[in-house]
Amino acid sequence: MLFTYLNDTESIDEMQAREIMTRSVISIREDARVEEAARLLARNRISGLPVVNADGSLVGLITEHDLIAKQGRTVADLMSRGVISVSADTDLDQVQHLLTNQRIRRVPVVEHGKVVGILSRSDLVRQIAMRWVCDVCGEIVRSLDPPSKCPLCGAEESAFAHDVVQPGM
Ligand SMILES: [Zn+2]
Repeated sequence: MLFTYLNDTESIDEMQAREIMTRSVISIREDARVEEAARLLARNRISGLPVVNADGSLVGLITEHDLIAKQGRTVADLMSRGVISVSADTDLDQVQHLLTNQRIRRVPVVEHGKVVGILSRSDLVRQIAMRWVCDVCGEIVRSLDPPSKCPLCGAEESAFAHDVVQPGM
């Protein structure tokens, strides 16, 4: 496990990809020129794009690394094929395994061949950042800012502290 939670009643592995995936996925056609892929990556400050065919089906992934390390004219020349993908109901612990054990930075979420979302390491990090646990009753609240009041026991904001412990770090 990459992360350990204290007071845990609902761990990351009980959540599914759909709950935290980015839905507005920026993708690119396989017949697009490599310059277009470079512009999309630069403009959106992302490091990889799902590649789709004319039907909108996922056929590959193109990353900053592909653009720097390989030569070609079209996205299809440079992209990686045989992309690992997950479905919207894949458990987040499986996603976490993929992102760590397979040394990939992002995984497309696919339904019926179409990309419906994407999950990156930063999505998992944001998930941890948004998780607050009440010191008094153990209730878990998800928000960017600390909750002003515990919805379960009514404890004040001071009862909430981030509870992430990263062993060995
Ligand atoms: Zn509480």
